Amino acid sequence: MGRAGTVHGKVVAISGGARGIGYATARRLIDDGARVAIGDIDDERLKEAVGELGVTAYTHLDVTDPDSFARFLDHVEDVLGPVDVVVNNAGIMPLGASAEEPDAVSRREVEINLLGVITGTKQALTRMLPRRSGHVINISSLAGESYVPGGATYCATKHAVKAYTETVRREYRNSGVSVSQVMPFFTNTELVAGTSGTKGMRNVEPEDIAAAVAGLIVRPRPRVRVSKLAGAITQSQAFLPSRVSEYLGRVLGAESAFTAGVDPSARQAYEDRVRAV
Ligand code: NAD
Repeated sequence: MGRAGTVHGKVVAISGGARGIGYATARRLIDDGARVAIGDIDDERLKEAVGELGVTAYTHLDVTDPDSFARFLDHVEDVLGPVDVVVNNAGIMPLGASAEEPDAVSRREVEINLLGVITGTKQALTRMLPRRSGHVINISSLAGESYVPGGATYCATKHAVKAYTETVRREYRNSGVSVSQVMPFFTNTELVAGTSGTKGMRNVEPEDIAAAVAGLIVRPRPRVRVSKLAGAITQSQAFLPSRVSEYLGRVLGAESAFTAGVDPSARQAYEDRVRAV
């Protein structure tokens, strides 16, 4: 098992590791000497990612199915040994007007983004608590502290993941197991394809989120917002009268990032992929 304070030698299991933030995190942790396993629902992309990353532990994973999650973690522990870190990263962001969102899409988004994280956290804890060591890192979002029209269900799931992770962290404060979350700003992966971001603040890169995960493993903390500036601006909204904060959201484009700011043709491939899972 890897020593505390270092990534080197740690066994890390990442859900949704075949692309985007999960993939960048796998790559970063491998570079830092971790023994990394990835699971993903997209078998074709998983196979490619496994080849590119050279990982030896991987399985098909659907985070909405507790048995599938258990098979993933059993496989990780068979191949690599006791899991030190579970990164609950898999998530989807179908966008559109709330009244028009098909029930199946709303349900699937909650199942993946929220219930998938709950399942992954519980299964990690049951393995880690008896050893009094381990770390659960959930990828929530700055959308968990804001309200973006066109992404109501997404924002709801991320607010819930934030609350869940903060609560579980308090529950297991003295257990020897750390519980953290990373809260990314708009990050350049397929998930934000065709969206406009905000004025005056560039999207961050998946490698920035990967660096935050690596930093948390070295020094566990309750939460990291990425970027720091985007995090500070998002947090500051809570102290403003809501009329002022909504005005700023409109002026800076944050409120239209998932509506008028979307280029449907650039987004279509992503929407098709996530609405099919
Ligand atoms: P992505 O689409 O690039 O990658 C997500 C991966 O999760 C894909 O490989 C996908 O196949 C996999 N996945 C989807 N459903 C799954 C399931 N049921 N079981 C297992 N794997 C599944 O997206 P990303 O931007 O890398 O997002 C990763 C996480 O980061 C998500 O939780 C997302 O909400 C969060 N996040 C992203 C951004 C952003 O702007 N990109 C911002 C904040 C938070």
